[in-house]
Amino acid sequence: MTTQLPPLAAVVFDMDDTLYPEAQFVRGGLVAAGAVLDAWLPRPVGAADVFLGVLGRTGPWHVFDTALEELGIPRDPALVSALVQAFRDHPPRLVPHSGVPELLDFLRSAGIRLGLVTDGYADVQRRKWAALGLASRFDAVVFTADVGGRAYPKPRVEPFAAAARMLGVERLPVLMVGDHPAKDFPPALALGWETLRVCHPDAYHSHDPDVRTGGDTVASVGELAAALRQRLAVPGSG
Ligand SMILES: [Mg+2]
Repeated sequence: MTTQLPPLAAVVFDMDDTLYPEAQFVRGGLVAAGAVLDAWLPRPVGAADVFLGVLGRTGPWHVFDTALEELGIPRDPALVSALVQAFRDHPPRLVPHSGVPELLDFLRSAGIRLGLVTDGYADVQRRKWAALGLASRFDAVVFTADVGGRAYPKPRVEPFAAAARMLGVERLPVLMVGDHPAKDFPPALALGWETLRVCHPDAYHSHDPDVRTGGDTVASVGELAAALRQRLAVPGSG
C-alpha cells in the first residue's frame, strides 16, 4: 500500500535562523548599542565587546541588563531604551546561509512557488529582508505585523493564511520550513501544511522541544536541499 503525496505547490520559509544565522543580526545590533553606551559614559569602556562577551556566555537574552550589572552601571530606563533602539535600528549586514540562494533557484526552476512569513517589528524585519537580497526569488512575503492592519504575531494563523492566498495555493500542498517549533509549526499544521524543521547547530531555538508528532528535521542547508529534492522527486511514500 502506497500513500500518495500530491505534488508540492509551494514552500513557505521563516526568515530568522532559517534563511540566515540570526546571530549575524544580533551581533550587529550589539555593536551598534555598544557605541551608544560608550558615548553615554564619561569614558568609553569598549561596550560592544562587553555585550558580545555576554552574548557568547549566556545567549541573546537579557544581554543589556547583564552587561550593565557587570560594568556596575545603574539600570537607567532611558539608557536601556536607547540601547534597545540602537539594536533594532542598526542597518543590518546579513548573508544567507551558504547554499540558500541556489536552493531557492532550484525550487523556482521546479515550478514551486515561494513564500516568506516573518515575525517581529515590521521595520526591523524589512531591513533584514532587504539586507539578505533574496526578495526577487519570492512570490509572496508576509510581515506578520502588517496582516489585517494590525499585529497577528506567530503562531497566529492569519499571516500564514495570507501567504497561502497570495501564493494562490489555499487548497494545494504547502511545505513550511522554519526553525522555531512553537511559532512556525502550529499555524502551518492548522492549515494542513507539511512541515520541515531546520535546526542549524548555532540557531537560538535549535534545542526547543518540537511540537509536532511527525515531520522531518534537518541540520544544514545541504540536508534541507536533499529533503526538498526527495519530496519533489518522489510522488509517493510509505
Ligand atoms: Mg526563525
